[in-house]
Amino acid sequence: MPASPVRLIALLSALLFIAGCSDSGDSERKVITVYSERAEHLIKPLFDRYTEETGVEVRYITDNAGALIQRLKAEGPNTPADILLTVDVGNLWQAENEEVLRPLESSVLARNVPAHLRSDTQHWYGLSVRARTLVYSSERLDPSELSTYEDLADPKWQGRLCLRTSRKVYNQSLVASMIERLGEERTEEIVRGWVDNLATQPYSNDNATMEAIIAGQCDVAIVNTYYFGRLQRNNPDIPLALFWPNQGDRGVHINVSGAGLTRHAKQPEAAQALLEWLSSPAAQRDFAGLNQEYPANSSVEPSEEVQAWGDFIPDDMNVEAAGQRQAQAIRLMDRAGYR
Ligand code: FE
Repeated sequence: MPASPVRLIALLSALLFIAGCSDSGDSERKVITVYSERAEHLIKPLFDRYTEETGVEVRYITDNAGALIQRLKAEGPNTPADILLTVDVGNLWQAENEEVLRPLESSVLARNVPAHLRSDTQHWYGLSVRARTLVYSSERLDPSELSTYEDLADPKWQGRLCLRTSRKVYNQSLVASMIERLGEERTEEIVRGWVDNLATQPYSNDNATMEAIIAGQCDVAIVNTYYFGRLQRNNPDIPLALFWPNQGDRGVHINVSGAGLTRHAKQPEAAQALLEWLSSPAAQRDFAGLNQEYPANSSVEPSEEVQAWGDFIPDDMNVEAAGQRQAQAIRLMDRAGYR
């Protein structure tokens, strides 16, 4: 007996329902959502490539870390975000502390990301490295005059030093790393020395700080390498050069841009696969290179522009310590009069 049209429709819709439930069906594209502090032009080319290679769509919003962490807290289990991608260990540590991340155990990430560039509790993984180093006027200063971060506190630098504001997490992490390495008392002495040597009030960003050197207001400053790289890309003859301090002891302060799985991720496996891909040689060159950073994965070489700045010994302290000492660093800079 032939099936009645009504039964046929019921059967077809049951089959369609089953097909809709199966995640192997490509009728429904998998979507991952990323909350990113990293700017769109640094992430979109990678996400586009990932979609091309895997069919997984990556949606994202960009904002500063504080706003993204607050948003994750406010959204709670309703958040669409699977991944938080941010810069500076201070922010990653804050995200972990505010419980918006969940631990992620991945042998791939553990292999690709060195232990000192990821959280002990597997809440986040560094994906690129930036150095916060010295930059100086190549017209007015001989690099043989430079040696360490500590030396910038010496009275010989009176009126020759420019700094970015202590409100920026990059400087908070730098000072936190000095507390970890040198102790609080010694670090406070150094920061007071820096303040005494300032040529002008601290600047709001690294670019303005370097522009002040070019304008002749000061001769030396502390900046993240990629900001120097951007200026240099626009003007190859820029009268500035990088200097790697502390090469005889602890090395140059480095920090990371990194990511973790959100506490309420709806697609944890798919998000993990994206993070693993971002840490892989296939993605690392672009992830770091687009921002003139160093790949976190040590099997990948930095771009040629970045290699041209020369080799240096980085401080291999676990970057997490800088996060843990963030609040202590902020109080110390405040006491020392560093605004
Ligand atoms: Fe930056």
